[in-house]
This record gives sequence, structure tokens and C-alpha cells, in this order.
Amino acid sequence: MGETRTGLVVDYIIQMRPQDILMPVAAGLCCKPGGFHIDPVRPVERAVITHGHSDHARSGHGAVLATQETLDIMRLRYGDNFAGATQAVSYGEEIRLNGISIKFHPAGHVLGSAQVAVSGKDICIVASGDYKNAPDPTCAPFELVPCDVFITEATFGLPVFRHGNAADEIKKLLGSVALFPERAHLVGAYSLGKAQRVIALLRAAGYDAPIYLHGAMEKITLYYESRGIVLGELRPVRGMKKADLAGTITLAPPSATSDIWTRRFPDPVTAFASGWMRVRARARQRGVELPLVISDHADWDGLTATIEATGAGEVWVTHGQEDALVHWCKAKGLAARPLDLVGYGEEDDSDPLPAAEDAQA
Ligand SMILES: [Zn+2]
Repeated sequence: MGETRTGLVVDYIIQMRPQDILMPVAAGLCCKPGGFHIDPVRPVERAVITHGHSDHARSGHGAVLATQETLDIMRLRYGDNFAGATQAVSYGEEIRLNGISIKFHPAGHVLGSAQVAVSGKDICIVASGDYKNAPDPTCAPFELVPCDVFITEATFGLPVFRHGNAADEIKKLLGSVALFPERAHLVGAYSLGKAQRVIALLRAAGYDAPIYLHGAMEKITLYYESRGIVLGELRPVRGMKKADLAGTITLAPPSATSDIWTRRFPDPVTAFASGWMRVRARARQRGVELPLVISDHADWDGLTATIEATGAGEVWVTHGQEDALVHWCKAKGLAARPLDLVGYGEEDDSDPLPAAEDAQA
């Protein structure tokens, strides 16, 4: 605002556009005025990290701003020198960088996951990272943040993806365990988030026997427990006798369940907990006997309901199946575009199979 010589108040407000605050560049989403990138895929001076999955949280940045849990998870995975400097940010706390405000809000995806609200002048952009609005006893629930521009993931951005109730999938698993007491059950689950959620869901369903863990799951699962997530009795599977694993449940990274490693189990039933298990062809191709549709990402209904509820007039769609969601937004009268960021979807709920196969399934 300024005053002219004639005394008339004249607005000198320079219209700030969303892309003046955040724009996609090769390293990821860049906030030029604030001097930071969100979930950069290559080393940058200052990184704001939404959550600990390896496609979002990479090592080698000058400084990292993230929740305490995300910083701890990065330290567990990459060692103490994963960044030059770190700053823990709590949910709801405001950080200001060169006139830009940053606030973290729970994303409901995995422990410590955050949406990042970036505000400058009158525009608020929410970069939601990965998120889900389904209940999860192992992390803070998704918080709806009203904004002008909502950046949404699209991992399951097709109407075919409706995850249903995770508790029903756990019932299926327990039904199978009861039906085949002489067989071991091997559940493929991503080691950060999904594994701990499956364990918590098993406990909520009343399963109180020890649950066995593949070595790759131990550190992160112990970390969840150290943050107060109650998971019951857990045991490492290594060193167990084959016969003693009959009737038990073991959690393992998805890659291990199709590996020579499974020979240590008596006639294992292979399960896989993933949103992709909605697609039968995928389960078949992976040799999964017991598909469990459990996802840490919003399904089609979750994505569209969230987009509407934010009140955003503009939507940027990234990592996943952008086209259908962009089309849906436009049909609703919202401005929408794909961001075309590359380098995401490599850890959780990613799948090496081409997207075209979903359309056929
Ligand atoms: Zn993720």
C-alpha cells in the first residue's frame, strides 16, 4: 500500500502467483523466496522433508527441516551424518524463512509424516507429501488444512482404487492362520509404516501371540515402540527352527517374500499388504497367495474428498496417476495440472509394473 501526492490510497499490491512461491524444478519443489526445496531428489542447501520414506527423505542436504520422527528415521537409515545440520519442527509450529511461513501438519501417512503449508503474502500452498485419511493407530491422524493451492499425490489416483476397511483384511489374514495351523504366514509389508500398522491392526483384532520380524524391520519397529506405539511381543525370526514357525505370522519386506529366504518357513502362505492388491493381476504376478488391501495412501475417494474439503481453487497433482485426478478436478471447476516431478514412488507402495496394467485389470 502507498499514498499518492493527491492523497488517494493506491494499492501497490503486486499480485503474487502460486508459482512465485513454489515451483517444480529438477531437484523437486522449490521455494525460491524461502530458499528451500520440499523433498528434493538431489542434494540441496536447505531441504524441508515431509516423511522418512527413501524417495522423499534422501541424505546429503546442507540443512534439513523435518519432524523429530522424520529426522530420527533418516538417522537410523543413513547414519549420523545424513545432513549438514538439522532442525526439528513440531506440528503446528511456524517457521519463517525470508518472509515465507512454513507450518507442518499431520499427514496420517507414517510416523512423523507431515504436510507442509507454505504461505507468502495472501497465498497458502499445502504440499501434502504422501497422505491418507484412513485411521492408523501408529501415527497422528491426517489434518485438513484449508488452502488456496493443494498439492496432492496420486499414487492411487484412479476410481478402481478403493481400499475398504483395513480391519477386514486383517480378519482375512487371521482366518487363514486359523485355517492352516501347520503353515507359516509371511506378510510382505514396507518396513517403514506399513509393517508397524499391520502389527497394530493384528493387536487391535485381538491377536496376542508373538509376531516375528525379518531383520530389515527390526530397527524401525523398535523405534516406533520407543515413540510409544504399542506393538505387543515381537521376536526376530532369525535363529528360529523351521518347525517352530508353523502357525506363526512373520513380517518381511515385500522383496524377501519371493526370495530363497522363504525356505526357512514351513509351507509358507505368502501375503502382501498393499493398495495394489486391489488389482488381482498384480497379486498373481507377484505370486501372492493372500492379497491384503491395506494402504498408507489415500484411495480415490480419499483423494477427491480431501481435495474438495481443502477449499483449494487450484490443485497440483504429483507422483502417481495424475491424469484421472487432474480431469476430475477440472470437471469440478478447479484449476488443476500435473507437476511432472520425477524420482518419487520408489519405496512405499511403488510397484515396478507399468501403470497401464492397472487400466487393464
Ligand atoms: Zn511415503
